[in-house]
Amino acid sequence: MVPEEFDCEHCGACCHQRSGTILVEASDLVRWKRAGRTDLLDAVEPGHFGLDAFKMKDGACTHLGTTENPAACRIYPDRGTVCRAFEAGSQQCREFRRDRGIEPPLERQPRA
Ligand code: SF4
Ligand code: SF4
Repeated sequence: MVPEEFDCEHCGACCHQRSGTILVEASDLVRWKRAGRTDLLDAVEPGHFGLDAFKMKDGACTHLGTTENPAACRIYPDRGTVCRAFEAGSQQCREFRRDRGIEPPLERQPRA
């Protein structure tokens, strides 16, 4: 369940992943090819499940970080389908934020 009042805080936690896990869909490749974005096509490598994935740098997607903001996506208007579909405030979002120390860890509930 998504908390009602959680907007994306553009923390970049979801862009920090293990190599090969931020998958790129075939439709993204087609879109970038049509747009002549060889730079984006070149920034893809073999990922999990035999699919393509964004190349990584320093534990994050290679497209993460601008001069002004290290947590901003440099290709935001052209980002991948998985990036667009990722839901701010979802359990995964909150887990990634906890992993990076942006949110405090969940407190264990005492057993009844
Ligand atoms: S981890 Fe959540 S809050 Fe942070 S950038 Fe991703 S979607 Fe937004
Ligand atoms: S393309 Fe942008 S939004 Fe998607 S993982 Fe890379 S840096 Fe994050």
